Amino acid sequence: MKIIKSVKSMLEERMQMINKTVGFVPTMGFFHDGHLSLMQQARDENDVLIVSVFVNPLQFGENEDFNTYPRDEDRDIRLAKEQGVDVLFIPKIADMYPTELSVTMVVGQRANVLCGRSRPGHFNGVVTVLTKLFNLIQPHQVYVGMKDAQQVAVIDGLITDYNFPIRLIGLPTIREENGLAKSSRNVYLASQEQDEAVWIQKALKLGQELVTEDEKSAADIIKIVKQTISVETQGRIDYVELLSYPTLGVIDRIEETVILAIAVNFKNVRLIDSIIFNHNGTIIERLS
Ligand code: AMP
Repeated sequence: MKIIKSVKSMLEERMQMINKTVGFVPTMGFFHDGHLSLMQQARDENDVLIVSVFVNPLQFGENEDFNTYPRDEDRDIRLAKEQGVDVLFIPKIADMYPTELSVTMVVGQRANVLCGRSRPGHFNGVVTVLTKLFNLIQPHQVYVGMKDAQQVAVIDGLITDYNFPIRLIGLPTIREENGLAKSSRNVYLASQEQDEAVWIQKALKLGQELVTEDEKSAADIIKIVKQTISVETQGRIDYVELLSYPTLGVIDRIEETVILAIAVNFKNVRLIDSIIFNHNGTIIERLS
């Protein structure tokens, strides 16, 4: 496995990969099984597998956890090697953003809901870094987790709107045994919070089950999901929303594919999770 730390070397390395299919997994590092599952699928489906580790300052708000975001480069290197990664790209901030950007990107409708509303500017930072990484790495296929379903919808918009010749593959959320979605941030959950956090997925499932039982009112489902979280956890609900997917438009009734999404603030960490299902409640776990 090659470890590449400069933008220039990454471009040079990519130029050597002629006539090869390139799979790409963008990450912020501190790998867990969610990241590894993306790498495994990408490994199976491409000649070359490139993984990036970059905690992108542009996607963190002023009061967010950029400084405390967990990092462990040595462990990431070891795990990437074990997954058969060909190139691990770990650029420096100064190399990715050597000067203030003279052209900036703004995400529209798909960023005005869910995490985009609570984290203004977050998705602008995501599409900016991905545009740079897509140009540097020129992947044929990009692998992302449905755990961050709004991010998948935003990337889908970026790729479609700007004609990136890339196939986007969204893979199922990997969970702890108790159902909690794996996340690099879970290390900051207190033990009682870990027990409570399992209710996030249980509440989502409850909402989806209501749809299988023919409940069609978005407002009624949201109400029950909110009640469940409030009763079962001490977390503060940031949002519970039910929207069309992947367009992320507001809906009253469930008549198409939708996302039911939750964000809850615990003491030191904000957790998100979501479930995507069609009009009769059938769960959609992957997108490709
Ligand atoms: P991050 O390092 O948090 O930016 O995540 C890098 C990629 O891993 C993103 O595409 C995430 O959606 C994906 N990911 C994060 N957590 C999970 C999980 N529990 N299951 C599957 N994919 C995940």
